[in-house]
Amino acid sequence: MKNKKITHKITQGMYVLTTKDGGCMVDAVSQISAGDHPLISVAVRKDNYTNELLKRNDTFALSVLQKEIDPKIIEVFGMHSMRDYDKFAQVNTIEIEHLRIIEQALGYMICKIEDRIENDTHTLFIGRLLEADVLHEGEAMSYEYYQNNKDELLKVTTETGKTAWVCTICGYVYYGEELPENFKCPVCGVEASLFEKRKGE
Ligand code: FE
Repeated sequence: MKNKKITHKITQGMYVLTTKDGGCMVDAVSQISAGDHPLISVAVRKDNYTNELLKRNDTFALSVLQKEIDPKIIEVFGMHSMRDYDKFAQVNTIEIEHLRIIEQALGYMICKIEDRIENDTHTLFIGRLLEADVLHEGEAMSYEYYQNNKDELLKVTTETGKTAWVCTICGYVYYGEELPENFKCPVCGVEASLFEKRKGE
């Protein structure tokens, strides 16, 4: 592939998806039908604990993050797993329809799952929008903005004089000339092709 980075230009946002007992960061959210209660699709990685939770629960909420969101929220929901970390204890949430919503978010959408489509890495959950509201005024954070400002947002730093590989999704840093064979990010689980090499100068 010549340069996969062009996919970062697909207009996607930054959302916290929550369901009963957990949640994670997602970026691939689309409205895919019209009407008062449109269908909303969201892709969730299969190896993510939240994906497991969405097999047992039929509702989820999407909190829409704004540019000025506390980066801690991205860190908490993007770089940890509820398997061993209580994300809800770390951030302020409000409860709506038995689901946790990020208090600082621009607003939320609550959906009931109508369909699940599996691909090699993700499940596409298709939900009917049941409830939605605007909580704050502001500009939504795009995935491209996150990619362009990730080092600052996640406070990624690499040591000088060392070759580092930085996960372009979560900011995890691996030191070494080359990544080991079949390497996957230990934090967010993505494959080696999503790591960026940096020469420490
Ligand atoms: Fe990662």
